[in-house]
Amino acid sequence: MFGAPGAGKGTYASRLHQKLGIETIATGDIFRELIKQDSELGRKVKGYVEKGLLVPDEIVLEVLKQRLAKIPAGTGFILDGFPRTLEQAKALEAVTKIDVVLMLDVPDWLIIERLSSRRICRDCGSVYNVRFLKPKAEGVCDKCEGPLYQRSDDTPEVIKKRLQVYHEQAKPLLAYFEEKKVPLVVSKTTLLDQPPEGVVDKMIEELKKRHFV
Ligand code: ADP
Repeated sequence: MFGAPGAGKGTYASRLHQKLGIETIATGDIFRELIKQDSELGRKVKGYVEKGLLVPDEIVLEVLKQRLAKIPAGTGFILDGFPRTLEQAKALEAVTKIDVVLMLDVPDWLIIERLSSRRICRDCGSVYNVRFLKPKAEGVCDKCEGPLYQRSDDTPEVIKKRLQVYHEQAKPLLAYFEEKKVPLVVSKTTLLDQPPEGVVDKMIEELKKRHFV
């Protein structure tokens, strides 16, 4: 799943998981877990994440390899937030094959609006938005009744930095996927309150056409 921060990667991945049972590996989630543990590695990672900077490739790759090893052989998975740099894409090629890139095309203005009102469940990681994707009860997760919180990097300055970093990395990465002939499925979003279900159903349709599911 490829796209800018706030493009909807986590939201769509969790729905694809519900509908197709495919597991997701989200590097951002792994890093937030590490930060919570307050280890030396966690403190190091925190320094980057809080500023909207990328975590160095050697840390990302190590963490990813450990997580990939837990996926049972022969089953598929969704990568959310990885690869984010050309180096990561090349390193991934040595470890596993990407069948398809689900590319989320969302304009920056929409992302800034969305991220500043995003909320996340502290217990299960489900994503909400206090303006466009409200939970049934304010501040409470629909799925597990956990408390909702705002990510510390969802502030206007850090969002701008994350977007800048994304745009710098996206071009060479997309060129690389093209060169490697990885099939690309593009989902274009133009509405602030676009319901995720329609986007996800279309994605599944495209995946079926290509016999991936
Ligand atoms: P978003 O895509 O909304 O920025 P994520 O949860 O995917 O959020 O990532 C949060 C932060 O974790 C990023 O801003 C970055 O600091 C770090 N991160 C996540 N994935 C990677 C990656 N593949 N390479 C480097 N840093 C990463």
